[in-house]
Amino acid sequence: MSLIDEALQANEQAAQTYDAAFGRPPAPKMVIVTCMDPRLNTIVPMLGLQPGDADLIRNAGTVITEDALRSLLVSTRVLGSREIMIINHTGCGMQTFTDDELAASLEQQTGTATMVPERFYAFTDAETQVREQIQKVKGHPWIPKDIPVRGFVYDVTTGRLREITLAPDLVDSQRETR
Ligand code: ZN
Repeated sequence: MSLIDEALQANEQAAQTYDAAFGRPPAPKMVIVTCMDPRLNTIVPMLGLQPGDADLIRNAGTVITEDALRSLLVSTRVLGSREIMIINHTGCGMQTFTDDELAASLEQQTGTATMVPERFYAFTDAETQVREQIQKVKGHPWIPKDIPVRGFVYDVTTGRLREITLAPDLVDSQRETR
């Protein structure tokens, strides 16, 4: 039996004790952009949130793509999310190759070149990557200016979040002069 067939059987069981309250119209308080990595599957309870409290936008590498922006706009402008969290993590698989390496490897495996995806958004430094994603969100003219956009790196070995601020040099120099 395939994994999906097993999942269908499990779903039949689970549905018998399903709480119909989960089917009410969504009213998220915040929206989280994070990685598809399974170690982030528990991020909602790790933030003390109930499943219905947050919209979750996920992709490989926590990238603010055009599609992530589309979802962020719907979450904030239509569904009412009031804050945006961007959560990258330690040990992301997207740090283990470059875009060119992966594309070359896939071309070699398949014998075919392709135009899409144009980019894989592989990265080397998680902090820098998070700063870039914050800037992409804050720079979009349709993202409400009064909605906080904050970025973090989640440590998969401790379960702790570390906040990444936009201008570390500026913050450091301000501290020194105080
Ligand atoms: Zn990842």
